[in-house]
Amino acid sequence: MKYSSTRGKAENCDSAEAIIKGLAADGGLFVPEEFPQVSLQDVEAMVPLSYEERAVKILSLFLTDYTEEELAGCVSRAYGSGKFDTKRRAPVNSMGDFHVLELWHGPTSAFKDMALQLLPQLLSTALPKCGVKEQVLILVATSGDTGKAALEGFADVDQTKIMVFYPQDGVSRIQQLQMLTQQGSNVRVVAVRGNFDDAQSGVKSIFGDKDFAKELFDEGVRLSSANSINWGRLVPQIVYYFSAYADLLAAGTIKTGEKIDFTVPTGNFGDILAAYYAKRMGLPVHKLVCASNANNVLTEFLRTGIYDRKREFFKTITPSMDILISSNLERLLYHVTESAEKVAGWMNDLSETGSYEVDKETLNTIKQLFWADWASDTSTKAEIDAVYRKHNYVMDTHTAVAAKVADKYAEAHADDECPMVIVSTASPYKFNGSVLEALGADIEGMDEFQLLDKLHELSGQDIPKGLAKLRKAEVLHNGSCEAREMKHTVMEFASDNR
Ligand SMILES: *Cc1c(COP(=O)(O)O)cnc(C)c1O
Repeated sequence: MKYSSTRGKAENCDSAEAIIKGLAADGGLFVPEEFPQVSLQDVEAMVPLSYEERAVKILSLFLTDYTEEELAGCVSRAYGSGKFDTKRRAPVNSMGDFHVLELWHGPTSAFKDMALQLLPQLLSTALPKCGVKEQVLILVATSGDTGKAALEGFADVDQTKIMVFYPQDGVSRIQQLQMLTQQGSNVRVVAVRGNFDDAQSGVKSIFGDKDFAKELFDEGVRLSSANSINWGRLVPQIVYYFSAYADLLAAGTIKTGEKIDFTVPTGNFGDILAAYYAKRMGLPVHKLVCASNANNVLTEFLRTGIYDRKREFFKTITPSMDILISSNLERLLYHVTESAEKVAGWMNDLSETGSYEVDKETLNTIKQLFWADWASDTSTKAEIDAVYRKHNYVMDTHTAVAAKVADKYAEAHADDECPMVIVSTASPYKFNGSVLEALGADIEGMDEFQLLDKLHELSGQDIPKGLAKLRKAEVLHNGSCEAREMKHTVMEFASDNR
């Protein structure tokens, strides 16, 4: 399987190379040249398989330049060995006709683990394939969750190092502790004395500095990023849609071939795009419902065909969806139009004017498959409370946005009888303050650990290991720097070969 750029002006390559490069040379995103097909028999055959075995089946269709043994090794290092707190890795939790696909049983309690556990393994396996001798240094600027998930994924992975910059006063105490206690011989965490934008601009300017890249190269190091447009982050996400279908078959909820709907809480459009891939590969999916928060640029786009980032930015109780540019949408546009020229034009409009509008035909194709709506913070909290009362099940805020929008979809489509699966992207413990407020608990003056205990009292669910152990974990990183010193800090870490 070859990969091409959504903007059509870069050379095609194998998946290993696409994963090492991240972004195509013309600024586009790598896409597979075709959708491999999975028959209903193949899907049925997944029923008795473990999550890891299901993953190898799907991955081997796309990553044809990896051997099956290599993929099995990658998958077992990513999802095996006690990193997940459930044997089923991505279980479907069904309460009557309320089905929740839980993607937060990994080490950092959020769905980013599903991809960031596997990407480092795919990358490390790709390096010798492509004759890369240098060490790869992953740089991340984080406002919280991605940094920790990337650290967990890259810790002690061969031929890689990872350095994470976070704004000193810009992350929660739990998020900070999660990062500062990170173990691994190849990891470094640094507080930037500034805000998230300072940290992010610092990392961007390092990536853009050709002279600096040359200096690093002389030290035997090349830079890379782990962001969500990398093909190696998208492909692991296709697996859990197939896995969810197999689980529903196993439970007798559906019969082979019966269609299901998914509602996905969406930010960068990566998670829901993976569902689109699954559908194109033959998984019986009817509607994909795109759920947004008050930053509802995608709701507008999927309804009108106009993408306009020139709007007010809201800070919500679903911070992982506070996004105005959904980068992975570019891949959908490419697959729908099959025209790199059109996509390049729209992306050019977006960067020059802040908006673009797709043609009627493209919009109609998109609308046949996608439906979109959004939920305010107030209705998201009400949804957490309502679902708790009805099912005795506590959802995180992001999941609740999806649940609320799924309700709206159901109201508008009484004729759709397909089972709806809500995609759940974080453990409620990860956003415990907002969740407890939604449940009407009095949390005045509580610290983060008291909040964990309080939520445990209410929900009865175990506190995730990774969060519980923070109470006693040793702080291993104490570095900090000014934003203007970041380059220097990177060089120090790059040339430290202990
Ligand atoms: C990243 C994230 C999302 C959004 O996923 P995208 O792939 O960016 O659309 C939703 N919820 C949580 C908890 C996340 O961490």
